[in-house]
Amino acid sequence: MSLKYTAAGIPRKDLGQNFLVNGEVVQRILEAARIQSYESVLEVGPGEGALTGELLERAKKLMAVEIDEVLFGKLKEKFANFQKLKLIREDILQISFSELVHWADSPKLVVVANLTSYITSQLLLKLLDNRMFIDRAILTVQREVGRRITAAPGSKEYGMLSIMVQLRTEPCLLFDIPPECFRPKPKVHSSLLRLAFHDSPSVAIKNEKIFYSTVKAAFSTRRKMLKNSLRSLAGLTVDDLHTVAAKTGIDLCRRAETLSLEEFASLSSTIAAFLSLKTVTAKQPR
Ligand code: SAM
Repeated sequence: MSLKYTAAGIPRKDLGQNFLVNGEVVQRILEAARIQSYESVLEVGPGEGALTGELLERAKKLMAVEIDEVLFGKLKEKFANFQKLKLIREDILQISFSELVHWADSPKLVVVANLTSYITSQLLLKLLDNRMFIDRAILTVQREVGRRITAAPGSKEYGMLSIMVQLRTEPCLLFDIPPECFRPKPKVHSSLLRLAFHDSPSVAIKNEKIFYSTVKAAFSTRRKMLKNSLRSLAGLTVDDLHTVAAKTGIDLCRRAETLSLEEFASLSSTIAAFLSLKTVTAKQPR
């Protein structure tokens, strides 16, 4: 039998409902969020409202998006008299940030979310896509995900996720939250993560599409040297890769996990220039 959040208060496993029940952790999250009275907040999945009331006290306006009908009904009752709260019953992945910002009467939002693991990656992607509307995000994530996001080159956690997030934000792991702080107790440890969104990418990139395909190809076979993994990039020959190595000074016998963000930017920009040169040459009449 699947668990449903009923009027009797049984959390739904399928929606990742693990509610924060530790007041001290709630206060630490609020402190970390540092909401100023001129800032508007988007709370993702308010659940039973562990953070909602406190966020309402601090924020200029609060938008809280909850997918669960039963919880939504309870929140509506509990917070009936607050003009500056907009409760939205919706899937956060379907929400338009430009509409939220319009209502919030603020060019940028502070996002606060205790993320359920089943949508973590999709929500992170959505936040990165909507980065122009976000100042910072304070997220409770699975501890391992937090470590992957903040990982440095050379560590085994460093990969595509670290690069995608570090390109657009400055991530910082603030503290760990043990399972006992939630009801029901999850099987995994959580961490509080802050993402400070940049106005422009943290390193200069010539062609974003080629940057992502370079990183993807490099990590597709983690144990392989770059000179082998990058061969899956369309249009590049072994000779081309020798030229790319000479131009960037990056030894292609290295593995993806040793390259910094700057090195990936340099590698992909050189590949982009190289591929466009090849296209132009191919188009020229003989
Ligand atoms: N913020 C509350 C807390 O800390 O106690 C609840 C956290 S609980 C881990 C995640 C909440 O997100 C649940 O209330 C769940 O119903 C809601 N949720 C799950 N998927 C969602 C989605 N796609 N869109 C909006 N809310 C969602």
